[in-house]
Amino acid sequence: MTNKSTHPIKPLVAGNWKMNGLRASLAEITRLKAGLGDAAADVLICPPATLVAAMADAAAGSTLMVGGQDCHQLAAGAHTGDISAAMLRDAGASAVIVGHSERRTDHGETDLVVRSKAEAALRADLVAIICVGETADQRKAGRTLELIAGQLENSMPDMAHSATTVIAYEPVWAIGTGLTPTPADIVEVHGLMRDRLAQRFGGDGHAFRLLYGGSVKPANARDLLHLANVNGALVGGASLKADDFLGILAAYHA
Ligand code: PEP
Repeated sequence: MTNKSTHPIKPLVAGNWKMNGLRASLAEITRLKAGLGDAAADVLICPPATLVAAMADAAAGSTLMVGGQDCHQLAAGAHTGDISAAMLRDAGASAVIVGHSERRTDHGETDLVVRSKAEAALRADLVAIICVGETADQRKAGRTLELIAGQLENSMPDMAHSATTVIAYEPVWAIGTGLTPTPADIVEVHGLMRDRLAQRFGGDGHAFRLLYGGSVKPANARDLLHLANVNGALVGGASLKADDFLGILAAYHA
């Protein structure tokens, strides 16, 4: 099961630091930059909002991109504690994750909200990384494909384009657990997503980057990241240490 796409898609390996990291953690960015070399993948780190500007400064002069983990769906206004897409852009971000399962669960974000956030990101010139994924119960009930198709349909804006929008398939039960789906299960879900994108966006549907996320580590990256229609990874825990993250990127070395 290898990547059989006829469209060459440059992979994206994105790290999500979640609610981890103080300014001292930027030392990891220095180590990451030193190890990047001519990475065969685009590389993005999404730190907590407090570190976006400092990380963008630390990444300057390298190919490393910096992103946010969430944005508000509106451009500005009375929304205490929230951050707009334009603010992330202004702080040096070039992308933002929307609809991560932790946001969907902790903050009750629906597909409709996620779609509005993705639209806000695109309007602010940020790449939107839209997350979808089933729970363990949904998988056990045989509802995975129906669920993912629905999330994809309803969370993706019509204005999405392969250059500006990335989809991350993250089974909720695989996040932070050390568990991963079988290669066949990943290929099945990514194949479904590719088909649905091609139906909705025509030829451009074949060019969207489809990331796999959920317990990706240096030890399993090679097995997971060369599957059909897997065009990179969204990495949580293993993105916090430069050595681990570089170990995942090594999956793209010859
Ligand atoms: C995530 O939360 O996006 C994620 C994939 O986490 P982890 O790699 O730690 O499973």
